Amino acid sequence: MAPCDTHTEGRNHEMTQTSDIRVRMAPGPTGAFHIGRTRAAIVNWIFARHNRGTFVLRIEDTDVERSRPEHLQSILDSLRWLGLNWDEGPEVGGPFAPYFQMGRLDSYAEYCDRLLGSGHAYKCYCTTQELDAFRRQAEQERRPFRYPGTCRNLSAEEQRTKEAEGLRAAVRLRVPDDGETSWDDLILGRISYHNDEIGDFVIRRSSGIPLYNFTVTIDDLTMKITDVIRGQDHISNTPKQILIYRALGEEPPAFGHVPLMVSSEGAKIGARFGASAVVDLADMGYLPEAVFNYMATLGISYEADSDIFSRDEIIRLFDIDHVSRSPAVFDAEKLDWMNGVYIRNLSLGDFVQRCLPFLQARGLVSSTPSDDELAYVSRALSLEQERVRTLAQAPEAVEFFVTDHLDYDPALLIVKKSSLEDARTILEAAEDLCRTAEFEAGDLDKEFRALTERLGLKTGIVFGTVRVAVTGRIAAPPLFDTLAALGRERVLKRLGAARRELSRWGETPPVQ
Ligand code: GLU
Repeated sequence: MAPCDTHTEGRNHEMTQTSDIRVRMAPGPTGAFHIGRTRAAIVNWIFARHNRGTFVLRIEDTDVERSRPEHLQSILDSLRWLGLNWDEGPEVGGPFAPYFQMGRLDSYAEYCDRLLGSGHAYKCYCTTQELDAFRRQAEQERRPFRYPGTCRNLSAEEQRTKEAEGLRAAVRLRVPDDGETSWDDLILGRISYHNDEIGDFVIRRSSGIPLYNFTVTIDDLTMKITDVIRGQDHISNTPKQILIYRALGEEPPAFGHVPLMVSSEGAKIGARFGASAVVDLADMGYLPEAVFNYMATLGISYEADSDIFSRDEIIRLFDIDHVSRSPAVFDAEKLDWMNGVYIRNLSLGDFVQRCLPFLQARGLVSSTPSDDELAYVSRALSLEQERVRTLAQAPEAVEFFVTDHLDYDPALLIVKKSSLEDARTILEAAEDLCRTAEFEAGDLDKEFRALTERLGLKTGIVFGTVRVAVTGRIAAPPLFDTLAALGRERVLKRLGAARRELSRWGETPPVQ
């Protein structure tokens, strides 16, 4: 279900790239695109739009076993739903196509050969068993595993012998023995790794498959990416990627690592959000504008008093220096609150349109509603717009308006501190009143207050009994607006049904 797609803000930036800034996101289609994965995407997108640069979407589909078309679809749908339009990538193309890694294998082979040719990479014939033995030894000696360099300096003769034995070579990058690899992280500041901590790493497996650190670097290089912004979980990959650029004699791009998102309870985002694809948030009744606003302000400050910003304000005010260095705490309560704010700010017509699919799915509105049906539902929704926090709450909120049969415990008709007798008196008098009253909230208010006085009962008791009789609930929108919206006929029917219910009880109400 996609109740809406009204992202027009930010769109105008699409065709107006005026800087050389190029950022990208490079998801693998190996799982649903859940909310945790949107964080780096949103930062990239805003960074690109703020700088009038280019946002590239590239798909890392070399994990052929686990890549699935439905996951790719989930990525594309989720980004579109959030309004994160990409300037180059799947379905839109661009000057650096293809934007799928499986279509770029030739370029990886070419650069790998270049590194082998210049001696920055070398062939490694170590078998899995040999490498496992090195690993076990490192474990026993309680030191981190580094490739010991067995094949680092094989002569051409030795290589030929290995090949004659039928061994197939992986390719490793020759990492300098000493020195450091450092960068000024756009978010986290200066970061350094000792090269001897890194060790010569594999860039192409003996099966011929190039590995992530290599492919991502070649893609970023050939696509002229200027700023690599991604999740903090990739931080230890960055020195390896910088070493690849250096080995190729190229200047690395800037790197920024966005701190991860955690739930307030701990490391994982609750099941409601963690497992669902972002597009599923639409079915859960979230507005894309609200999710965008929430995610764009999560762990990012904007030097403003409010948390509510339009897309254009976010683009204008964004400053990567204001992305917090600590993990961002995902707060589902706050997202719900923000969604409620966005719902309240919708025009009634827009709110109704967005609620309709939810109401129709529950059979509360027909698939092609008449003007009268639509007008009635709109009126009901207007009374609930202030109260719901997600669109998915709309069916329950307005069900009592449209149902023919209210299902409630009749004992609720006897409001606290009143009696069965009071309830009967109230219902009878209310029916009389409603037969003749003007069905307008202000008039009904006046008449019911006068009635309360005549009956000598507290307003809370009279209004409470009537509320239960006409809504089946103890909490509902303002009573007289509700009565006016329901209309005379429905109200009389419901008051009558409640009165008949009570008459079945004789003199003793059942225990409440
Ligand atoms: N496929 C990687 C991911 O989605 C890409 C990481 C990167 O941006 O370099 O985490």
